[in-house]
Amino acid sequence: MPSKIKLVAILDTGFTIAPSFVINRHHKSLKIKKIPALTFLLHHDDLGYIMVDTGYSKEFLTATQGFPARFYRWVTPVKMRENQSVIAQLKKHGIEPTDIKIIILSHLHADHIGDLRAFPQSQILIEPAELDYAQNLKGTTQVRHGYLKYLLEPVAQKGKSVQVAAPVGLFGADSLELVELSGHSRAMFGLKFQDQQSNQDILLAADAAWSQAEVQDPDNGPAKLAHMMMYSWPLYQKSIQKVHDYYQQGVKILLAHESRESQWF
Ligand SMILES: [Zn+2]
Repeated sequence: MPSKIKLVAILDTGFTIAPSFVINRHHKSLKIKKIPALTFLLHHDDLGYIMVDTGYSKEFLTATQGFPARFYRWVTPVKMRENQSVIAQLKKHGIEPTDIKIIILSHLHADHIGDLRAFPQSQILIEPAELDYAQNLKGTTQVRHGYLKYLLEPVAQKGKSVQVAAPVGLFGADSLELVELSGHSRAMFGLKFQDQQSNQDILLAADAAWSQAEVQDPDNGPAKLAHMMMYSWPLYQKSIQKVHDYYQQGVKILLAHESRESQWF
């Protein structure tokens, strides 16, 4: 059956930085690496445009003005230009916020849900366990785990009515498959589909790996220092192995925090 889904664009919404060895433990260098926050614009023949995550945004800066959320900005300083917001980039594609009927959130870390307030009419699809976990953490613990209360508000208001639990086929079994990739966060999922244009199988693997080098060699993942940022390191390792297996089967893996230019066909 021909696929109904097309990858329209990868949007780069800004970046933070980290030493190279934190991302890939085999890299011994102290070189600083740019870590972009990418979002993905899909089009479904019957359902129209679908956004996967919404990246950094001005809202992210608002959310991290006060304490304890300000710690987030100190640990991962964010650089983004005004024209890098998802809204501004969609406009360039001739797409209005109201054209986005569905937003799928891989997980709820602040660098994936920044621009949600700009899409009040869109349906939001999330993992219920992720929302429960994020909401039940409080104060500095919530921030330390990568969640910001202010950014979670629109998800909490809208997400309740439209929750999905991985793994299921979304929009028809052959259409968009949710791939469970927990470990980086409490309940994260990737999205697997066949791209209508290239016929290539693609897995949007969110933060299951931080680099393509890690996809190719799961042993070359984050340094020990970064393990404590994960919800569960053993689960993380299980998920990266899953992603690596797909990679070996010829599936194109697209990550949220690897440069767009190095991943785009
Ligand atoms: Zn994350």
